Amino acid sequence: MAGLLERYRKYFPITDDTPIETLGEGETPLVKLNKIGSELGVELYGKYEGANPTGSFKDRGMVLAMAKAAEGGAKAVICASTGNTSASAAAYAARFGLKCYVLLPAGKVALGKLSQALVYGAKVIAIRGNFDRALELARKASSEMGLAIVNSVNPYRLWGQRSGAWEVCDELGVSPDWMVLPVGNAGNITAYWTGFVQYKNEGKIKKVPQMVGIQAQGASPLVSGESFPNPETVATAIRIGHPVNGKKAAWAVRMSGGFFSAVSDEEILLAQKELASKEGVFAEPASCAPLAGLKKAKREGKLPEGIKVVMVLTGNGLKDPQVILSGQEEICEIDGDESQLREVLSQ
Ligand SMILES: *Cc1c(COP(=O)(O)O)cnc(C)c1O
Repeated sequence: MAGLLERYRKYFPITDDTPIETLGEGETPLVKLNKIGSELGVELYGKYEGANPTGSFKDRGMVLAMAKAAEGGAKAVICASTGNTSASAAAYAARFGLKCYVLLPAGKVALGKLSQALVYGAKVIAIRGNFDRALELARKASSEMGLAIVNSVNPYRLWGQRSGAWEVCDELGVSPDWMVLPVGNAGNITAYWTGFVQYKNEGKIKKVPQMVGIQAQGASPLVSGESFPNPETVATAIRIGHPVNGKKAAWAVRMSGGFFSAVSDEEILLAQKELASKEGVFAEPASCAPLAGLKKAKREGKLPEGIKVVMVLTGNGLKDPQVILSGQEEICEIDGDESQLREVLSQ
């Protein structure tokens, strides 16, 4: 199994001293979404990042960030996380033999993600505060205590995440017209854009797509232009009020001719249900913000007919089962009885 570092070695800052490891990250499915695409009047694909080893795109950047931390002689790494960064950091730290500290907003991390950080052996520290505060603390601790920080302020994280854009182009043979991503700390959208620009400079694609960033209404600083001191949304992975990569992302989106848009929690959960029940693709709430955003663009007459659109389905739906079980879905319970079963099946 050639991992991401081997596969895209020539596009990465890898030296003879960089330790190479892989858990099989990358090469995720680009799923064609015919039913929803035809309703929207576009050629629609979902880049299913939930198929990564820890269930989110974070693995793409983490494998490179961790390799470079190990190469630099780090013994321990630290990160703040809304959940997926901690799961990924903990797994790759284990793989590279490094100690891992993760700072999480107390009570605001999906259960699947928290259990991942624990089982991979990270030291989990819950902060009574939001993600933005946890990141401030992680940055301070990193500079004062000599820990390698593996948040998206680490340039290798974003460098590794460019590979998502490369894979989309490698598979489609062209770049899409629209590239739609959920935006929290705004690293991934910046990484994709950089990846497209790099591929264009290499002559691999002719144009860079329009970058479209979707935020949750309760945490939409890049739409309103003001930071959110108390971000709130069901999509915990993008519950971020002050994105550290906000300026870069805003520049990338503007350069590409794209836009930012905000959607409600109801729209996000509806999009999640639709993606799963119509297309068989289960993604966590944050990952479904792009579909909610496309539906909104369609309603507002902003979605051109027939264009090629790729959404990044950033994380696996199984990470956050509680959001589904606390929804409206009813489970029908019967006795272990044939006639009762027959009755239900004939309804
Ligand atoms: C990290 C994450 C995001 C947000 O990505 P940013 O780079 O912080 O904008 C979106 N969805 C999921 C599932 C994530 O884990």
